[in-house]
Amino acid sequence: MDKKCICQETQRHFLNLAFNRLRLEETQRELLLSSFRETRVTIPVTLRHNGENRLHTFQGYRVQHNHARGPFKGGLRFHPDVNMGEIQALAQLMTWKTALVDIPFGGAKGGIAIDPGKLNETELEELTKRFCQKLAPIIGVHDDIPAPDIGTNPQVMAWILDEYSKTHGYRTAVVTGKPVELGGCAGRLEATGHGVAHLTDKAAAEMSLTPEQSRVVIQGFGNVGSHAAITLANKGYKIIALSDVHGGVYSEKGIDISLALAHLHETGALSGLAGTSPVSNDELLELPCEILIPAALEATITCDNADAIQAKLVVEAANMPVTHRANDQLLQRGVVILPDLLANVGGVLASYYEWVQNLQQFPWERELVLSRLEKRLSSTYDTVRDLAQEQQIDMRSAAYELAIKRVERAIRLRGF
Ligand code: GLU
Repeated sequence: MDKKCICQETQRHFLNLAFNRLRLEETQRELLLSSFRETRVTIPVTLRHNGENRLHTFQGYRVQHNHARGPFKGGLRFHPDVNMGEIQALAQLMTWKTALVDIPFGGAKGGIAIDPGKLNETELEELTKRFCQKLAPIIGVHDDIPAPDIGTNPQVMAWILDEYSKTHGYRTAVVTGKPVELGGCAGRLEATGHGVAHLTDKAAAEMSLTPEQSRVVIQGFGNVGSHAAITLANKGYKIIALSDVHGGVYSEKGIDISLALAHLHETGALSGLAGTSPVSNDELLELPCEILIPAALEATITCDNADAIQAKLVVEAANMPVTHRANDQLLQRGVVILPDLLANVGGVLASYYEWVQNLQQFPWERELVLSRLEKRLSSTYDTVRDLAQEQQIDMRSAAYELAIKRVERAIRLRGF
């Protein structure tokens, strides 16, 4: 089955369980499941290849799932596997995330089916700005606010801000995750990974796992994985394995994260890091460890490898890294799962802080951003954990229940 189907099937399964527990009627379910608007555009761009200029076209998407609680909010992903089904599922997930952490946003997601690594800087700017021209009628400070996701970064957000501002006047709050010089939020870049580490530490403590005793494996060393690794290492956790798209590195004694970052910066990959042995991405997931953090793409833990996972705690730093069947297999074995909508919600929470600062034209210091982030993440975690304990359900089921109730109530209050 391709990833598009797995994503949608996984999401639908988790939602149906929650809908049943909440005894929602068919029409309510339909309202909660359907997208408000699904946009698909073709983006032409001239690329230089073997000394020749050639016109190419790429498919771009923006799915606006639900805005009952506030403007649509969610990232833009540049990756070859991007397709409408995946973006639909990820847009929905944003609706539940923003509701769970109780910020006044709805959910959206977008992206372009492209490998951004194959484009030079000028081509990427042209592609992004053309995409923005096509999205301009549907995005806006109080309508839909994009942000970075896989394959995009603050520079891409700066290009969107520039293009959008040509026709709408300077509107910093139209995107979040911008460079700090253009109204970005101090701490936004590391917020998702920092939040992952903060919640991992909280969950580990409740399982009586001390940092010194806990071996951590992180799959994916992009923005989220690397910042989670930095914060966890600072808290005293031993990171024994890391990976990027090319493969992984392992050291029983623990990996020095600053050396790993320097090596990656110098060589473009983790492989060959001094003091480590190579391990494949598949092997890495099955290593003996206490904490496993999938921080790459969807569907990395499936029914094919779930029974081989040795971790006691799985933290979903990526969106939808565990399929619903794998989820059930892990839960049956008593593995605790910190679900994506809670584990990685620090990213969109910091985006909300950025939006608020832009609207007020009043920037906050990094310390304030991170302390507010930690406080809100802790209270969200506590609410989810309390509901899970009270109803004898897992953390994901509790998180979905809380989020769905809030969205459903907003729809009812607004009367549509
Ligand atoms: N792309 C991130 C996510 O999946 C952040 C979205 C945002 O900040 O709007 O949560």
